[in-house]
Amino acid sequence: MEKTKPLIGVTAHFSTENDYSWLRPVYYDAINKVGGAAVIIPITDEESVYDDIIERCDGILLTGGADVDPHRYGEDIKVFNGEISPIRDKVELYLARRAVELNKPLLGICRGIQVINVALGGTLYQDIHAQIKDRELMQHFQKAPRWYPTHKILIEKGSHVFNAFGKTEAWVNSFHHQAIKDVAPGFRVTSHSTDGLIESIENDSLKFAVGVQWHPEAMWGKDEEYLGLFRLFVGHCRVK
Ligand code: MN
Repeated sequence: MEKTKPLIGVTAHFSTENDYSWLRPVYYDAINKVGGAAVIIPITDEESVYDDIIERCDGILLTGGADVDPHRYGEDIKVFNGEISPIRDKVELYLARRAVELNKPLLGICRGIQVINVALGGTLYQDIHAQIKDRELMQHFQKAPRWYPTHKILIEKGSHVFNAFGKTEAWVNSFHHQAIKDVAPGFRVTSHSTDGLIESIENDSLKFAVGVQWHPEAMWGKDEEYLGLFRLFVGHCRVK
């Protein structure tokens, strides 16, 4: 049978504490709904399989989760940094760099945007509320249902995020206590919240390399507008 659907590798969640790996179905259901064929990438210490996995995938989706180890961007771990997952950092940082090297479409969600940024040389705020003191931030870890949009983003025209929404302002959910500080070389900011946090980055010199700070996978079940980004991503995974 001829292969018709692009194969999209979706990274699993991993709990170091419980030695337990899982993934919310909304991630792979979104990929499958817009014409991709999703497979879950295991969080394994076995480096010898990383290249085989990425070479067989037509695109990589990095999912949400715990904080990236600050040593990965040259900082000590401050008291307000959250849980870290060394094996997950190892797998995902490798996949992000390798996807860029191979110019395979790459989408990062929440932790995923942070992984992409760190993998390619950027830095993070270890905690936005502890480290950003020059202005009042709004709530970026919402106390509302996961699907519910709680803040606005302002979107740059001509970006993938603009193409996904078809407009320069959109509403998103928010479940992050960290954010991008210094943007990785080659990437640009394509949306920000009204209090000035970076909500998406993209690299224009690659086929598709996009990170978003919100969780579209938690929103599309209520509003199909949020499938737009997945549709755009999978569309780029079809292009050889
Ligand atoms: Mn936010």
